[in-house]
Amino acid sequence: MIFFSDFDGTLTLEKRELTRDFFEIIDLIHKHGHELVIVSGRSISWGHFLLTHFPLKACIMEGGGVVLYIDEHGEIAEEPLVSIKELDRLRHFTSEIKHHYPHVPLSADSFGRLTDRAIEFHLMEQAWVDQVMNFMDQEKINYSKSNVHINFWCGEISKYLGVKYFLEKYRPGILQTDCWFFGDAPNDQSMFELFHNSVGVSNIKHCLHRLTHKPRIILEGEENAGPKGVLNFIQKITSR
Ligand SMILES: [Mg+2]
Repeated sequence: MIFFSDFDGTLTLEKRELTRDFFEIIDLIHKHGHELVIVSGRSISWGHFLLTHFPLKACIMEGGGVVLYIDEHGEIAEEPLVSIKELDRLRHFTSEIKHHYPHVPLSADSFGRLTDRAIEFHLMEQAWVDQVMNFMDQEKINYSKSNVHINFWCGEISKYLGVKYFLEKYRPGILQTDCWFFGDAPNDQSMFELFHNSVGVSNIKHCLHRLTHKPRIILEGEENAGPKGVLNFIQKITSR
């Protein structure tokens, strides 16, 4: 069985704290012979960090844009899930943004991103945000807005497409319906919509009204916020 999970707000607390629950989750999953695969909007560099410092075999980063895994030599390998042509188009568009809107702040980790870029829109006036989004519409660039970032990319990217591809290519013996996904926010919606076994940790309540697609199971209570909810749920599933 694979437990797929978002990272920020799901495996960490909303204030971005990494607690001992995260390590307990990893231990519990390993003890039962299962796997944890993190599926995050964070950059490919973050993926390297996760695979270097925690006992994980693979992760899916940049909102589903790239799969990272430990190869047969024990090295970290990367597979972008969009074509070189789309990556070039993104590179070109990013320089256009910098040229036309020099005051727009790209996120600090944009230089470490491969398949998408992010803008710190919380540092911008609304008029700039509208201008930039219009420009993206004009140029047919995909984007999504989270609490702090506008992420933009070229080609078809979603957490669901990343997970689907990963299962088909890297874990062909495992059925989607035998896996679980945990998330907490609008950028998890493709998984809530298309992946059957989806769970929202209880802090998802803050943004439920903004979700078009909700998780099938929504945990409740402070004791099920973020990693605590994930841990409790996995304990229940694995003790069946
Ligand atoms: Mg999250």
